[in-house]
Amino acid sequence: MLVLFEGLVTCPSILGTIIIMGNNFQFIQVERHDPEKKAADERVKEYREIYGEFDQARAAEQSDRCLGCGNPYCEWKCPVHNYIPNWLKLIAEGNIDEAVELSHRTNSLPEITGRVCPHDRLCEGSCTLDEGGFGAVTIGNVEKYISDTAFAKGWVPDLSKVKDTGKKVAIVGAGPAGLSCADVLARQGVKAVVYDRYPEIGGLLTFGIPEFKLEKEIVMNRRRIFEGMGIEFKLGVEIGKDISFKDIADSHDAVFLGMGTYNSMKACIPGEDLPGVYAALDYLISNVNRCHGYEKDAADYIGMQGKHVVVLGGGDTAMDCNRTSIRQNAASVACAYRRDEANMPGSKREVANAKEEGVHFMFNRQPIEIVGNGRVEGVKVVTTELGEPDERGRRRPVVVEGSEEIIMADAVIVAFGFQPSPADWFGENNIETDDRGRVIAPEKAEFKFQTKNPKVFAGGDMVRGSDLVVTAIWEGREAADGILDYLDI
Ligand code: FAD
Ligand code: SF4
Repeated sequence: MLVLFEGLVTCPSILGTIIIMGNNFQFIQVERHDPEKKAADERVKEYREIYGEFDQARAAEQSDRCLGCGNPYCEWKCPVHNYIPNWLKLIAEGNIDEAVELSHRTNSLPEITGRVCPHDRLCEGSCTLDEGGFGAVTIGNVEKYISDTAFAKGWVPDLSKVKDTGKKVAIVGAGPAGLSCADVLARQGVKAVVYDRYPEIGGLLTFGIPEFKLEKEIVMNRRRIFEGMGIEFKLGVEIGKDISFKDIADSHDAVFLGMGTYNSMKACIPGEDLPGVYAALDYLISNVNRCHGYEKDAADYIGMQGKHVVVLGGGDTAMDCNRTSIRQNAASVACAYRRDEANMPGSKREVANAKEEGVHFMFNRQPIEIVGNGRVEGVKVVTTELGEPDERGRRRPVVVEGSEEIIMADAVIVAFGFQPSPADWFGENNIETDDRGRVIAPEKAEFKFQTKNPKVFAGGDMVRGSDLVVTAIWEGREAADGILDYLDI
């Protein structure tokens, strides 16, 4: 970064030289600060978020570090294209009321993305200050601060000028995709009725992502806001089982599907069916059910107290299993991953948090068998080295001959990701899937995210494959635009 004179800075590191006008040199005097993080030995005793909040002065100071770039890369990299420099400026000026309105113009769940987005590889990863080595603006934490502060002041969306269109849309799935679709529709005077088989809204926000990343009260608060906007939730209702798809399609003007991906990928190694081997999501959901009183049968709970746990995988779900096991007082938690640390797919922040909390990482270890006599006793792994890149550019793990070893374990959690789970009623309702089971609903179509059945739209993980909260939000919002066009509103 080259400072030419006050108010004009060139940053040659990105796409040639760009000129940054406006804000001056706070970024030199004021370093990046994140809210305080609880000490590891304290936070492992509870299922609570580990990061604190900015106060008004700190939020303003950190927001004021933004350069106000003419072409803000953060905004492009953010999947919902938040007006980031604009709301940073409003917070620097102390204008929370306008900031919260602006934040909701592009994002239906900003208090949630502020907490769970992998900021380091999205907005903050493309901040000009980060490129220049000054430390990115703390965009995610300011986004969280805006909503949390406005909610504490009693802010709710003002829909008093919205005219009822008389149209009604059914939404299957109360995850981020379905909720965001409902949000956009409600703001345009369309009645949104959201069905979910679970007893609470949120999808994986509630029944997946643990509380140390996102406390459930945050999602409950959003439910109250949505209900106040006239969105109706029909929970504990599975479409295709409790009500037929045809019934909801016939009784609504359009349908949006945001049903997620729920087929856990198997390890496909001998011993995977031994007692003591668990799928990641079954494990995480059982813990949520126990902690929040949703448990129907105590036998469904998977507890790790006193056990030596091995988690297989290196993504965010694996980190969530590691850290939940630690909180359940496992005797030890080891995480085996087949590539090295630099090539882990999950958020670096979450890996660092897991390490601080006592997870032992075993990099370059590929499981080849789960061993045990009648129940799991260990995982046989081989050591790997990184070879040539695969078609996605990631270096393939290559097995080192004669490197077999057994990691002792009383419990193994398989966290290898998720594949689509198309419903058996898709075919008869003209809802097509691709060869990987993802629902075909193109973004670039006359009506965005419309399926082959003209009345049915879809978005989120079930269309793009397992991804992120923020991408599901974006697709839900875009699909709502497609529905509004289809309904000629
Ligand atoms: P979901 O959130 O899966 O919601 C789908 C909903 O549809 C569910 O509530 C389901 O019950 C409902 N449903 C399905 N079928 C039916 C039916 N027939 N009838 C009624 N209801 C139905 N992303 C991040 O950005 N940051 C993270 O930190 C992060 N951590 C994660 C941790 C875990 C353990 C997991 C599994 C995922 C994580 N993700 C994270 C990914 C993120 O949660 C998902 O990409 C996102 O939730 C997808 O949203 P969705 O609305 O498409 O689907
Ligand atoms: Fe960054 Fe995610 Fe917020 Fe976009 S939604 S500004 S990527 S934290």
